[in-house]
Amino acid sequence: MLADRLKTLAPSSTLAVQAKARELRRRGVDVISFGAGEPDFDTPERIKDAAIQAMRQGHTKYTEVGGVPELRAAVCGKFKRDNGLAYEPADVLISCGAKHTLFNMVVALLNPGDEVLVPSPFWVSYPEQARLVGAVPVAVPTQERTGFDLDPERLRAALTPRTKAIILNSPNNPTGAVFSPAALAAVAALAVERKLLVVSDECYEALTFEGRHVSIAGLGPEIQARTLTINTCSKAYAMTGWRIGFAAGPRELIRAMTDVQSQVTSNPSSVAQWAAVEALAGPQDDVAKMAGEFDRRRHLIVQGLNTLPGVSCVMPKGAFYAFANVSGLFGRAWRSAEGLKILKGSLDVTAFLLEEAKVAVVPGVDFGSDDHVRLSYATSAALISDGLSRMAAALTRLA
Ligand code: PMP
Ligand code: GLU
Repeated sequence: MLADRLKTLAPSSTLAVQAKARELRRRGVDVISFGAGEPDFDTPERIKDAAIQAMRQGHTKYTEVGGVPELRAAVCGKFKRDNGLAYEPADVLISCGAKHTLFNMVVALLNPGDEVLVPSPFWVSYPEQARLVGAVPVAVPTQERTGFDLDPERLRAALTPRTKAIILNSPNNPTGAVFSPAALAAVAALAVERKLLVVSDECYEALTFEGRHVSIAGLGPEIQARTLTINTCSKAYAMTGWRIGFAAGPRELIRAMTDVQSQVTSNPSSVAQWAAVEALAGPQDDVAKMAGEFDRRRHLIVQGLNTLPGVSCVMPKGAFYAFANVSGLFGRAWRSAEGLKILKGSLDVTAFLLEEAKVAVVPGVDFGSDDHVRLSYATSAALISDGLSRMAAALTRLA
């Protein structure tokens, strides 16, 4: 019954882990979830108030497909204020979350057979979206010993005549890497030389704890002309459910992505758009407050993970994920409900932690590394401490 493209489609495992933890909790199982890639904070009141006001004022109809002019202007203001980037509203598209922005991009940009370089570990949706349109994602490994920094030489080595784009994500999901300015400059030069499009997913920009967030488009007019810069209200403003993502870039591409969107979803929710105007253009103190709390939790979880036998974790510099190396556990055995099992990869470790510790994590294999599991620390310090203790206790039961 289904299209061939569904034969290779893997559903989003980040969302699947979240759903599984929620389901277990509903059944009364006391699960601690490090799965959810979403802030546990509530959306700030000033933003909710703006949405209520928008509804009262009758902003309840279709809007311009690409977003109301006020929001596109607020996005331009944000890019200027935070990134030093000059864009006009015609260079901007508002979509139903940055995930939707990215999908508009693959539909508008990629032909079947086109190759897209994806530094690995990568966020689960990049390769799947590319495959959905028949394009070929090419994983290009980064190295744990450099903190998973971008590797320009490996990217260069992976280029073929079919390479059309590179997807960058800094701060990175799942590794927490903040790509170094030198590596970004080298990749910018490569993209200009080889006429590639750079897709720069900067969704975790506000959560940069070490180093400096660099927007690659800011490295010069030539690279800005071939970069699609993507961001979202989801993380910085704890607005995951509102579904507002945005992009700015080459006008021809933005126009094409807007045309795609016009045939698929039309505008994102009008009410959410007005909330986003307040989020981006209003006072920004709530952003720093939330980021400060994530930073404290970052130290707590990474220190705790590094005390677990067989587990190691490099200190992430941004986002809210710890990408723990669990390969030291491989070969150990545990007695599961279905009998004795040997831990052989990240899926086994994930199953072991859920069953034995009642802790939910996401297997690294879905992000391109079977040696790791991802833990989101967008959860309270108390739950982080409790989860770490549970994992420590479960590990003592390994044979
Ligand atoms: N990019 C990355 C790297 C992400 O982790 C996510 C998930 N939140 C997104 C994009 C999409 O976010 P949203 O669709 O909520 O804007
Ligand atoms: N991006 C978050 C994550 O990686 C949310 C879930 C998703 O959209 O994949 O967990």
